[in-house]
Amino acid sequence: MPELPEVETTRRGIRSALQGRTVTSFVLREPRLRWPVDPALIRSLPGQRVIDVSRRAKYLLIELDGGTLLAHLGMSGSLRVLPAAAPLLVHDHYDLLLESGRCLRFNDPRRFGSLHWMQGDPVKHPLLAGLGPEPLESGFDADYLAGRARGRRVAIKQFLMDQRIVVGVGNIYASEALFRAGIHPRRAAGRVSYDRLSRLVAGVQSVLGEAIHQGGTTLRDYVRADGTPGYFRQELFVYERTGQPCRTCGSPIRQVVQGQRSTYFCPACQR
Ligand SMILES: [Zn+2]
Repeated sequence: MPELPEVETTRRGIRSALQGRTVTSFVLREPRLRWPVDPALIRSLPGQRVIDVSRRAKYLLIELDGGTLLAHLGMSGSLRVLPAAAPLLVHDHYDLLLESGRCLRFNDPRRFGSLHWMQGDPVKHPLLAGLGPEPLESGFDADYLAGRARGRRVAIKQFLMDQRIVVGVGNIYASEALFRAGIHPRRAAGRVSYDRLSRLVAGVQSVLGEAIHQGGTTLRDYVRADGTPGYFRQELFVYERTGQPCRTCGSPIRQVVQGQRSTYFCPACQR
């Protein structure tokens, strides 16, 4: 599933091709995505110019003259910039064609992706309102996290994956960040010291930052090759390493289930 680093990598990959370009047409081959795509976009998007491409949580925000497209990649989606005449693949659901002769093409076998239109401030869209801060921006720090964790008995792993606390920390990155901070994933959020929360912020930022860097490396291959997104596997300390020796202390990595998701941790390094 595309996580925040893959979405950010996509944003960086498509932004320069879109920014400043005018939309010539919008081709909707399959409106039945996670939510139906509004067919009115076929008439309303042409003639609008792309001002910028930003990101909020795992939504790409394609800002146009008259409003913003909110694009989500879902479980299996990808957005690529291609020549408008590039041959279609099965599961190519929409194209945003540009006066440059290129198009932004969305492919999604499982159709959990989405596309919404929002006039006015996109962060007020119901899908975005109420989300916590971005993990790589200044609002996410130890003071903020300590304030939100105070008195909370929920496990720190689930706390960290709660999008109202901070966005974009998926299962892989939560396990890895807790390992880096030396925090046991089942510890109550309100019982993690300020010092450890500070290390957790650093752990989240470094693991996401490194994954974005890796994504940037694999995006070039991805455009050339088969569309398989690059992951961050060789850098992982605990994720899907059950029974293998901890890279720090040699203890076997353990796996538990929390909130129906697998959590991986080192019982010696994480307290
Ligand atoms: Zn260890």
